[in-house]
Amino acid sequence: MKTLHICSELYPLVKTGGLADVLGALPFAQKQAGMDVRVLLPMYPSVAEKIGETGHVAYHHTFAGDIEIRYADYNGVGLYLIDAPQLYRRDGNPYHDQYYADYGDNYLRFGLLGWVGASLAAGSDSWWKPDLVHGHDWQSGLAFAYLRAWAVPVKTVFTIHNIAYAGIFSGHHLAELGLPAYMYGTYGLEFYGQMSYLKAGLYYADHITTVSPTYAREITLPEHGYGFHGLLGERAAQGRLSGILNGVDDATWNPATDNNIAKPYQPNHMQGKRVDKHTLQQTYNLPTDDSVPLLVMITRLTEQKGADILLAAAETLLARPLQLAVLGTGSPDLEAAFRDLEARHPDKVGVRITYNEALSHQMIAGGDVILVPSRFEPCGLTQLYGLKYGTLPLVRETGGLADTVTNTQPDTLANKTATGFTFYDPTPDALLSTVGRMLESWHNPKQWAAIRATAMAQDNSWHKAAEAYDALYNSL
Ligand code: ADP
Repeated sequence: MKTLHICSELYPLVKTGGLADVLGALPFAQKQAGMDVRVLLPMYPSVAEKIGETGHVAYHHTFAGDIEIRYADYNGVGLYLIDAPQLYRRDGNPYHDQYYADYGDNYLRFGLLGWVGASLAAGSDSWWKPDLVHGHDWQSGLAFAYLRAWAVPVKTVFTIHNIAYAGIFSGHHLAELGLPAYMYGTYGLEFYGQMSYLKAGLYYADHITTVSPTYAREITLPEHGYGFHGLLGERAAQGRLSGILNGVDDATWNPATDNNIAKPYQPNHMQGKRVDKHTLQQTYNLPTDDSVPLLVMITRLTEQKGADILLAAAETLLARPLQLAVLGTGSPDLEAAFRDLEARHPDKVGVRITYNEALSHQMIAGGDVILVPSRFEPCGLTQLYGLKYGTLPLVRETGGLADTVTNTQPDTLANKTATGFTFYDPTPDALLSTVGRMLESWHNPKQWAAIRATAMAQDNSWHKAAEAYDALYNSL
């Protein structure tokens, strides 16, 4: 079966978050499992720079101007790239300018992504035509509308990596995008008086997946469905919604082979982790101290990620014997609040407001605990990295966090399934009491080592996810 992924990020070519990590790994794992997969991506400057030579596939005259589809082999997986400098040749973040303002022509930029995806399924490349189109998040959503409007005979899967981003644009653009007027309605793209690219995927795809079983259930509820819970509840009832957990790319995230970290280590040889901790403490200008746990957080600084919950708990938290190192970028008020926190407690808190891939590895390796207090979390990746590096996750029990971290309590200690510390209420108090439980375990080194060993033995490989997607594709 030939499968075309449609997406807007792919690590290491272009990345703003977990979506890129997934697309940087899943197609390659599928290829390894013997599947014929290709990926469609806009040719952003960073992509053009890193990809090298590309070959011509097709020219098209489109609603977004003249464009060219180009092709390159990338580590064994075929990439289709949309060369449309008028839309994509902008440095920095793929979605917004340096002031966090979304680009005004995003409806065209990602409308075109969907259009090209659909046209590849309709035969744009005479040498390769997919049997199945697999789109990711709202940026790919319009592909499913075009496929339906053009009645292209292809199976379709749409994956929600984050339902909070609905790709909302004015319905007035429909004609310009070349979509039929009948599609603008409740039974179609319309969403509270506007058009949602995400809804196009949710409504027109044969099957919807999301990145964890718990999140698949949560998004059918008003609290987490962002207005789509009704539609998703219907699709779930038809057996058209399921959850497949993301994996960890072993080539990028493995403490034994990670060349971003000072000293590699592995389950039975943990000495290197101590060196990595000292290195990280020095990086953050914190006292080199083995006696206190070093808590790390690597995240977009948004309310989704519970960054504000951590801030609200911070003063009480920092009265305890621990250190905190934060790496993140995001909303300016949260960035400022973290900088203030560091200024008030320079001996206990280090903050880096930047995006730094190498440092993120050093934090996962050098930390003792990875904090993920998210309000919602479709899958979450940093807790998976934490498990693999023996950096115990302290997380809210939601979405993929609930599916991948087992809380430390008497029964899970007894049956050796505990891998971290979880709490349910999205409140500073719940976070603080869980930090209290974590500290109790920390002060019991034998217990800590046991939990760490279980954490490091978890199998969250992409291989498993690739098999689950394969089974789904075949069922369609
Ligand atoms: P989301 O996709 O919602 O942002 P995930 O946990 O699924 O959250 O994925 C986030 C990814 O982005 C992880 O690989 C994490 O390490 C990385 N990341 C987030 N912020 C930074 C940063 N400031 N520097 C480096 N990597 C970051």
